Amino acid sequence: METGKRELLRSLPAVDAVMRDPSGQTLAGRYGRASATAAIREALDGLRRQIVAGEGPQISEEAVAEAARTLLSGRGPRRVVNATGVILHTNLGRSVLSERAALAAYEAATRYSNLEYDLRSGERGSRYDHAVPLLKALTGAEDALVVNNCAGATLLALAAVVASESSEAPEVIVSRGQLIEIGGGFRIPEVLALSGARLREVGTTNRTRLADYESAMNESTRAILWVHPSNFETVGFTESVGIAELTTLGLPVIADVGSGALLPVGGEPRVQDAVRDGAELAIFSGDKLLGGPQAGIAVGAWRSISAMRRHPLARALRADKLCLAALEATLDAYLEGTAEEDLPTLRMLQTPAPELEERAGRIAEELRQDSPGLEVDVAPSVARSGGGTLPTYEIPSFAVRLGGREPEELAEELRSADPPVIGRISEGRLWLDVRTLLPGDEEAVVRALRDA
Ligand SMILES: *Cc1c(COP(=O)(O)O)cnc(C)c1O
Repeated sequence: METGKRELLRSLPAVDAVMRDPSGQTLAGRYGRASATAAIREALDGLRRQIVAGEGPQISEEAVAEAARTLLSGRGPRRVVNATGVILHTNLGRSVLSERAALAAYEAATRYSNLEYDLRSGERGSRYDHAVPLLKALTGAEDALVVNNCAGATLLALAAVVASESSEAPEVIVSRGQLIEIGGGFRIPEVLALSGARLREVGTTNRTRLADYESAMNESTRAILWVHPSNFETVGFTESVGIAELTTLGLPVIADVGSGALLPVGGEPRVQDAVRDGAELAIFSGDKLLGGPQAGIAVGAWRSISAMRRHPLARALRADKLCLAALEATLDAYLEGTAEEDLPTLRMLQTPAPELEERAGRIAEELRQDSPGLEVDVAPSVARSGGGTLPTYEIPSFAVRLGGREPEELAEELRSADPPVIGRISEGRLWLDVRTLLPGDEEAVVRALRDA
């Protein structure tokens, strides 16, 4: 190693020296000694790597403490203010639970529960029984199963249905228009391969007809997979086959409906419609338009749900008690007819624009008084449902628009506020869309900007 690098490495302060420095003491005061020490060690490791890579980082006790502070402030998941206008923001945790759902999870977390205990018989019960009666009542399905997420439920459904009948190379038919990728690398062809099924593609990207499915059927065909394209739309010269029509072919139709809408939202397929149309299984997420915890839910025919429950993958993908408690409480709101008031996701989707204009006006007024250096105005904005749902669905909204400062710099300062505030930059200004603000967020935004 070159002498320069070696000298730089030697000049790095010891952990204790940083801890004794006022900057280190501030850090320990805010995050605790143990966390501060661990973060300082990690920061020093980072600096060592930079030096070895030939970058000449700044070296001082303060610089190390500052790097450690950045590491600690990024820990989480912790609260942030979503001012992006994207309601189901996947990077910001997707759906926000209702108070009732959060309390149910809290109780399940801090108490014992009947997770796998049958209170009537006093014997061992099954975690798979929770939420099933509610799901049946809400969707009209014969049976239901909750696992960790929708990707897992789709994988398990395919694996179970394919495995239930022995065949050399079981096939599943999918339209080429539905061979999609959902965010995070969930690709339908790859999930199919993992499940042990052979993919039989039919039709074209823009047009698939019933006859295409029909001519692909053979003695190895086990099922038809119907996928809601979720995060993209084809327009123009298009044709696709609905679930009801597919069932006329006499094969089980596995429908990955995605967002789990139970109420009508901008043309998203509803779960109960897939069940009514005869899907063998309808599969959806718990934390998209359903507005509950992260979960993957399958509803449908008793035979296939039992096959899923018995499959070894079910254990690997099982939902935990916090999820099950929150999901039950979320589903209860639908059954009681209070979902639109109780669930933040549905509430945010439906807040009338004039109410948002008023909210934005209120924030802008406070900012004009508190932060005179900023140019503040209220502008019409477009919010989105997000989370891979309704890609072209535009929800009229309002934003507080901030100018008079470099937008990237202002955005960065708001991200380092406590709680961090996340907006979006457009037309050279920082936009804070108020549709996605939750109770208490208005004050947090005003405070963050006052300190910026
Ligand atoms: C979102 C989505 C998934 C993945 O759901 P997760 O709950 O994130 O695993 C799978 N299929 C479709 C059609 C989706 O829209």
